[in-house]
This record gives sequence, structure tokens and C-alpha cells, in this order.
Amino acid sequence: MRVGVLALQGAFREHLRALADLGIEGIAVRLPQHLQGLDGLILPGGESTTIGKLAMLYGLLPAIRDFAGDGKPIWGTCAGLVFLARELVGYDDQPRLGLLDIRVRRNAFGSQVDSFETPLSVPALDRVVQREELSRPFPGVFIRAPLIETIGNSVEVLARLENGSIVAVQQGLLLATAFHPELTDDRRFHRYFVSLLVGNRLPARLAPADEALSDPTRHHIEASRNIPYPHNGSMAEFDIREADATLKTRANTNHQGSV
Ligand code: GLN
Repeated sequence: MRVGVLALQGAFREHLRALADLGIEGIAVRLPQHLQGLDGLILPGGESTTIGKLAMLYGLLPAIRDFAGDGKPIWGTCAGLVFLARELVGYDDQPRLGLLDIRVRRNAFGSQVDSFETPLSVPALDRVVQREELSRPFPGVFIRAPLIETIGNSVEVLARLENGSIVAVQQGLLLATAFHPELTDDRRFHRYFVSLLVGNRLPARLAPADEALSDPTRHHIEASRNIPYPHNGSMAEFDIREADATLKTRANTNHQGSV
């Protein structure tokens, strides 16, 4: 089983590490061809405007929509949730996948409480846990988090804050969390996502990665570092101004071409 993690910007290394903990091969995805042969895809947290622009630049929007259309599960965390959403309050122009039938407010928790941690009740996780873990609250790490304001008919709520705000949902094989399970040691959400990949049949090896493999995470992280970023062909982290300039040039060229 191979699970992709969109590696344009943000907390993708932490997801690769979490997958390695479960003995699952994680693949850094930066181009449409990296999706080939993958069983599922994780969209990490970070800055959804940046992720959206870079994804558009590299032709990943249609490629990921096709991936979902092929019945492959996708999970968005935080900015990844924003990137999946059908509607964004006040950010209608922001490039995104629009696959998940939810209306989202970005940075909904105000400047004073940008980040916080709170235990969440997530009954759905009980489908993938051992008896002693049943009903254990999940540590919700919220960092400039989005809020799900409304959901479509086909969307199921997986978790709410105490005040009723929706912070985790599922629509068929699409999963979205406003918080960051990859920044905790709790792997239940990753196991839950993996259970979607195998139709609730958990792979044999969901125990912590074998010591003998000597830190598989490092291997994945180093592998992902060795893939050049496509917009500038360099190993450097993204430069959003450069990506913006390329998009503008492209838009102008297309415009001139069509007149
Ligand atoms: N505020 C970010 C956005 O809207 C998300 C933050 C995060 O992923 N932690 O893109």
C-alpha cells in the first residue's frame, strides 16, 4: 500500500513520518505523475493560498480531481481541508479542489486564539482501535484553523468542538480535519484514513515501524528532499513570489493567445 502526501508546502514531512510509524510507504507528491500507483492521498496543513497556487501551476488540480474520481481516498488536514472545500467564505477566487461539499471560514478562531489544543470526542475512530483505546478523546491541535460552517447532505460530522462547531467531516472517501493529527503522537486518525484505503481491512502491520528498519522516516524525508521543486527546478523551498509571477505570465500569455 502506498499513500501520497502532497509536498508543495506545509507539514508534509510530519504526515510521512506518521505513515512510516504505521509501516505504510509514504510518497511525496509534487507533480501529477507522482500520483500514479498510489492508493490514497493526504493534503497537509500549511498555507492554503500557497498550496492552491502551486497546485494550479503544476497541473495538480485536474490530476487530483481525477484521482478522487477513480475512487481513491483523500484526507485534508487544516489548509488541506480548505483546499478540498467547495466554498470558501470571502476567498472565492482561491484555487482549490472543490470536491468536499462544505462551506469553510478560514482562520476562523480570531487573532487572540490563533492556536489551541483541546480534547475531541471522535466516535468514528473506535472503528479502528484496540479495546483499551475505545472512546479515548483525540488531542485536537488547532493552528490558525478553519471552521466548517455548513455541510452538504452527503457529509457526515466526525467531530465538533464543545460549542458545536464542526471540525472533522467525511464525505464518502473524502476525509477532512480542521486540526493536525500529524503533529501529535496519536496515530488513530492515520489508521482511520488507512482503513478507508483497504475498505476497513487494516493491513497486517499497523504496529510501530520495526526498529530494524532504522528510522524509515529519515529515508522518506531525505527522499522527498531530493525531488526538485517543479516551479524553479531547484531544491529550495517554494518561493511564492516566483510562483505568482509565473502564473501571471501564463495568464497573460493565455489571454493574448485567445484574443
Ligand atoms: N490558516 C491556514 C489557511 O487558511 C491554515 C493553517 C494550517 O494549515 N495550520 O490556509
